[in-house]
Amino acid sequence: MEKIIHGAKIYTMDPATPRVEAVRIVNRRVESAGTLEEVTGTASEKAEIVELDGESLLPGFVDAHVHFLDLGLDDLYWLDLSAAASKEELFQRLEEGAKRTGREGWVLGTGWDESKWEDDGSFPDRYELDRVFPDRPVALGRVDMHTFSVNSPALELIDLKGVRGAKKRGGAYTGVLTEDASLEVRKAVNYGRDELKRGLRRAVEAAGEKGVTSIHQMAVQPGRFEGYLRTYQALLRNEELRVRSCLYFTEDYLDSAIHLGLESGFGGDRLTLGGLKLFSDGSIGSRSALLKEPYADCEDEYGMQIHPHGELLDLIKRADENGLQVAVHAIGDGAIEEVVSCFEELEAAGRNPRVSHRIEHAVMATDEQARRMGDLGLVISAQPNFTGNWGLPGDMYEERLGSDRLPTLNRFEFFRRSGLKLAFGSDGMPFGPLYGVHWAVNAPFESARMEPYEAVKAYTLGGAKAAGTEDEVGSIEPGKYADFVLLDRDPMEEPEKIKDMDVKATVLGGETVYSQDKKS
Ligand SMILES: [Zn+2]
Repeated sequence: MEKIIHGAKIYTMDPATPRVEAVRIVNRRVESAGTLEEVTGTASEKAEIVELDGESLLPGFVDAHVHFLDLGLDDLYWLDLSAAASKEELFQRLEEGAKRTGREGWVLGTGWDESKWEDDGSFPDRYELDRVFPDRPVALGRVDMHTFSVNSPALELIDLKGVRGAKKRGGAYTGVLTEDASLEVRKAVNYGRDELKRGLRRAVEAAGEKGVTSIHQMAVQPGRFEGYLRTYQALLRNEELRVRSCLYFTEDYLDSAIHLGLESGFGGDRLTLGGLKLFSDGSIGSRSALLKEPYADCEDEYGMQIHPHGELLDLIKRADENGLQVAVHAIGDGAIEEVVSCFEELEAAGRNPRVSHRIEHAVMATDEQARRMGDLGLVISAQPNFTGNWGLPGDMYEERLGSDRLPTLNRFEFFRRSGLKLAFGSDGMPFGPLYGVHWAVNAPFESARMEPYEAVKAYTLGGAKAAGTEDEVGSIEPGKYADFVLLDRDPMEEPEKIKDMDVKATVLGGETVYSQDKKS
């Protein structure tokens, strides 16, 4: 297969030639990029010439932090409650939705965000949910998935013995479950092998639609990795895995991985092992992100530390020694402090030079912490969509943290200028890089606001670097896979409209895996 593509503005993310006119693809890889004349000059006579039907062509997006398979499961089996404008409407949608799906057993919902409700801004509790569903178990995940609201029948199925984060009132569970307790909710809801496959197929479809050609699947739930890995392998065998997938496992699998001698990067071009995913705190929305100063709307609350220092350090050290990359979730400045100091101790003790590590989110990183992260060479895996969701004046971040701290959050441009390795991901809130790129470019504060080219770079090459796949993907360069996304407009020309742009086509290894025109 040999093709020459041209006719759109081609942005390569290669600093040597940021813009080219044409690209020649041979088999699955980019063979040359340059002016149409240059590229045609090196082509054989059989080369097919394709004129692109779109405004701009970018490298395929790399979503560096997404619970990918879970997206598909959520889409198939969980009701979307994100559009509820009030608590009252949430209950209505839940009742109607449960009738519509006609499924037995669990009533599952996700996406609710009380900070957007106009009536009652409190988390739904078991008594409120019991009024709607007295008999069927109900579990509703808050938009950040760090808090779940469940009813009484659900509480009977969830094992909360010795688990932190289950709120109580007068000695009884309120049905509001955060952090460790929220993980128990997902544990109680099980999926069969076929359900998992359907979920992953749905997620792969969504990747095509959103122009995503690589994903980093972050694990959340202990005990699930083997089921996930089997599902990815099943799709790979069937040639259905049309997105390059890099998988991160939870800490309960660390011993097994070490025992098997698995190292980061194991696998092939479609399916590779990322490494170990750890949590050091929760989220700002759930007031479980670990802060140095208390929450503005709850003065004795500082959030939650998931691992004591020694335990976190030990996990990081053992992974590192055994060639496994670590990706640590840290949102609050208290948690970032904890994680950075662990990596400093690792560095001092002698880090494995073959692996580089990453901090997920780093929402509240201070100037000083950013400098230390830079010295350590850590990747910052950030989510610019959070800015659009919660970072505008008057939104949830300001409510939880106050107006003084608001401009200090998610400072993407500051990170970039400080020379930090920046990778972008969606965390599935919502899935879709154009929305994230939009908010990096249109962020309300200068220290966050990026040039469109730089934001796209963080969502492509930045993600590739975070998983060590930058020699294969992330930019349009000779030798790399021909992974592209074709857009109907040009993000560099109309930066204020990025979130409304359409993906016209997605190309993975030279093969069109999604085309808007073919969709009917
Ligand atoms: Zn996440």
